[in-house]
Amino acid sequence: MRIIRYQHKHESVKFGWVLEDPAGPLVGPIEGSPFGDFQRLEANLPLEQVKLIHPVSPSKILCIARNYAAHAKEHNSPVPDVPMLFLKPPSSLIGPGETIILPPQSQQIEHEAELAVVIGKPGRWISPEQALDHIFGYTIANDVTARDLQRRDGQWGRAKGFDTFCPLGPWIETDFDPSDSLITCNVNGEMRQMASTRDMVFSIRQLIAFISSVMTLDTGDILLTGTPAGVGSLLPGDQVEIIIEGIGTLTNPVQAEAPR
Ligand code: ZN
Repeated sequence: MRIIRYQHKHESVKFGWVLEDPAGPLVGPIEGSPFGDFQRLEANLPLEQVKLIHPVSPSKILCIARNYAAHAKEHNSPVPDVPMLFLKPPSSLIGPGETIILPPQSQQIEHEAELAVVIGKPGRWISPEQALDHIFGYTIANDVTARDLQRRDGQWGRAKGFDTFCPLGPWIETDFDPSDSLITCNVNGEMRQMASTRDMVFSIRQLIAFISSVMTLDTGDILLTGTPAGVGSLLPGDQVEIIIEGIGTLTNPVQAEAPR
């Protein structure tokens, strides 16, 4: 099932679901919380008539660095022997179609196409065997990074944390097998990144066990599972498209921040 958050005209933002119809996808509202008890109401609104919002509002955006060996290599960095955890602030989230704003502090801002896991059941000290029971579904993220600031600062809070640096969506797919799925990133139609999720250094089970040994995972939290090789610059006027086979496509335009 595909779960969205959406806004129709000037109504308030709500959760919905997507029905694949031969005439085009349709949207229906969800009554209750998709993370608890809910009911799907009739889908009769064409998807193209609603504005999609990032599909969840997490308390934490957990990210893993260097989880694809080829990406670690392109930065001359070793593959870590324990997962390298960092966080992005929820204020960095934007939805599909929203604009990535390039801040003036950086001269080198890059895309990172990533599979994102959505936590459905809270927990601490979750074992690898139990980890999949805590997953609600999967979506697509772009871990936008100011590479020059990342190198300069050492700590990554600034480089990874600007507003608009976490495009997420277009929806949460609850029926998805993450074991061998293709991740592709195109910028202006030109392919930059392509790899299978099977190339992850640490599996999703291992990542959930590792992170939950540090902090409680809450319902709705997001885990970005690392980016494949091929990261590259974003410039004003670009269009970034991330495709994950079995989930969908996340597209965002890029603009420079207006002078203040
Ligand atoms: Zn990343």
